[in-house]
Amino acid sequence: MGHWVNGIWCWNFEWRRAILPREEGALKEFHSFLQQVNLVEGREDKWIWNASEEGSYIVKSAFSVLQGLELEEPILVFRALWQGTAPSNVLAFGWRVFWGRLQTQENMLRRGIIPIGENTSCLFCHEVEETPNHLLFNCFFSYQVWTLCYRWLGALTAFPESSSLHFLQFGNEFRTLKQQGVMKTVWLAISWSVWLHRNKILFKNDQKDAAKVVELAQLRAWNWLRARNKSLTYSVFDWISQPRICIESF
Ligand SMILES: [Zn+2]
Repeated sequence: MGHWVNGIWCWNFEWRRAILPREEGALKEFHSFLQQVNLVEGREDKWIWNASEEGSYIVKSAFSVLQGLELEEPILVFRALWQGTAPSNVLAFGWRVFWGRLQTQENMLRRGIIPIGENTSCLFCHEVEETPNHLLFNCFFSYQVWTLCYRWLGALTAFPESSSLHFLQFGNEFRTLKQQGVMKTVWLAISWSVWLHRNKILFKNDQKDAAKVVELAQLRAWNWLRARNKSLTYSVFDWISQPRICIESF
C-alpha cells in the first residue's frame, strides 16, 4: 500500500488486474485526490465531523447543515434513481451525472487531470467544450439520439436544462410508479449508451452512429428489465416494436 520516506508517505498501489484505458481518468483523479491529503507519521487515523469546530459530531450542527441545504431535488433524484433497474455501475454513473462528476474533458481540465491548453472539445461535434450536460443532452449528436428514443417511445417532451430535471420528468406520463421506474431504466440505458459510445470514439477511434446508440440502449434496457422481471411475457422484438404496450404491462 505504501511506505514512509523522510516523514512523507509514498503510496505504492498494486492492482489485481491491468488498468483499462477507460479507467485511467478515474485513476488520475484518485491520485490527485490523494495528493491533497497530508498524512503525519505516528498519528493514527480518525473521523472528523467538519460541521463543528471541535471536529466531533453534534446533533445541532447536523441540523444546521440540513437546514442550509436544498434537499428537495437531490432526494427526488435519489428516489427516482433507485426506481430504475440497472447494474450498480450504471446507477453510480447516473449519480455522477447528477452531481456533475462525470469525467468529461472539461471536468478533467478543472481538476488538473489534463493540462491547460489541451483540447477539451466535445468528441461528437468538436465545436463546444465537453461538459456533462453538453455531451449527454445538448450536443446535436446526443440530441439526435434522444429524439430517436422519444420517437421509439412515442413520447413528446421538452429538454430541460439540468440532467436531474431531465431524468425526473422522463416517463412521468405513465400512471404507476413501476411503469415510471421502467422509464428511468430506459433513461439510464440511453445516457449510459451515449457515454460508452463517446468512450469508444475516444479510445477505439469508433465512428459516431446515433442509430447504433439507440439500438444498444434498447437492448441494454431490455436486458436489465428482464434480469429483474423473470415473468415478462414480451419478447425483445415486442419491446423494440411496441415499447409502450410492454411498459404498460408492468
Ligand atoms: Zn458536442
